[in-house]
Amino acid sequence: KTTNFNSFHPHFLLGTYSPHFVMTETTGLPKEQPIRVVVYSSKRYERDFLHKNPQIAKIAPNVQLEFLAPRLDANTASLAAGAQAVCIFVNDSADAAAIETLAKNGTKCLLLRCAGFNQVDLKAAKAYGVTVLRVPQYSPYAVAEFAVALLLTIVRKTHKAYNRTRESNFALNGLLGFDIHGKTVGVCGTGNIGLLFAKIMLGFGARVIGYDLYPSDAAREMGVEYVSYDELLAQSDVISLHCPLFPSTRHMINAAAIEKMKRGVILINTSRGELVDKNALIYGLRRGIIGGCGMDVIEGEEELFFDDHTGEILEDEKILTLQSLPNVLITPHIAFCTDTAISNIWTATYQNVLAYTERNRDAPLKNQVRM
Ligand code: NAD
Repeated sequence: KTTNFNSFHPHFLLGTYSPHFVMTETTGLPKEQPIRVVVYSSKRYERDFLHKNPQIAKIAPNVQLEFLAPRLDANTASLAAGAQAVCIFVNDSADAAAIETLAKNGTKCLLLRCAGFNQVDLKAAKAYGVTVLRVPQYSPYAVAEFAVALLLTIVRKTHKAYNRTRESNFALNGLLGFDIHGKTVGVCGTGNIGLLFAKIMLGFGARVIGYDLYPSDAAREMGVEYVSYDELLAQSDVISLHCPLFPSTRHMINAAAIEKMKRGVILINTSRGELVDKNALIYGLRRGIIGGCGMDVIEGEEELFFDDHTGEILEDEKILTLQSLPNVLITPHIAFCTDTAISNIWTATYQNVLAYTERNRDAPLKNQVRM
């Protein structure tokens, strides 16, 4: 579902924040004038955070943030007309059409307030001369710790126990869990987050096996055993996904992969929804191959996540099916959502604008995403 915004709708402008920025001549932007940054997919928790932490804006005092509620896509790109920079999040869509509109309306810089960049058409950004900057690492701890929270909730059924005791039901039926200690935990993608998740699992006394295109010595030294993807699928009691979404990793958990899994495996996804084929996941759960899953991200989430849909009948039947299963826990992409992470995201975003405006022409920037 998309909404057509052909012109600027003040209704969606949620507020502005802290103008001032000293520009240098190297970027061709005017000196000592405010730089307009239009922030798409803006939510109240972020605006409240910035309001309560005014020191962050002082990093680049001439930046003027304009908060918009809608997601960036081809239809909403014109809302940023005249803004030098546009700031987007995980479920915005900076596809070729959106980038073309942004660039034609004067936007030169795309600021991602996240690490992943699968939502950006980098080829189009290059073609239209739009510099893309991201926040490569804001708190891998936040995400790794949340993956553990999902895992323990599914395995020990704390969410069910909580609801029961609120109804004065103190029975234990249906609350049987299992120890992580002694189990085999498969970590798919042993980068920043995967490595921390592995460390926590080793602390639990699990055997940790890993799969990565680029195995790391740090992981090996920690005690992670690298195996092939098929071996990881076959041996793991728990599988946690921590690799990025690329065309090559899209649906890496599909029906064929599920057929290779150990019966009863717990699947945790805090990476990107499209790593898992939703249809295959339902098939695996129905057949009992997947014993439970914790999904902070889910294929198709961009139509739902970060907004309140209370009272609506959802159109996504697959998500409805997953919500109805007793061994599925879905959270709305909150693994990143800690005070430390939000602070680091906005600090790095302000630093990225500063770096962009102060750069020497053509010099690569530290957080720049290139093709
Ligand atoms: P990272 O780049 O440090 O690590 C990713 C690892 O995946 C790397 O070691 C890489 O070699 C590996 N990899 C790449 N392609 C692979 C493949 N085909 N098979 C196996 N491994 C492969 O990234 P990170 O900081 O650890 O973040 C991982 C992912 O977590 C991000 O890409 C992002 O999608 C997701 N994330 C989610 C949230 C959230 O709130 N849920 C927050 C931050 C990041």
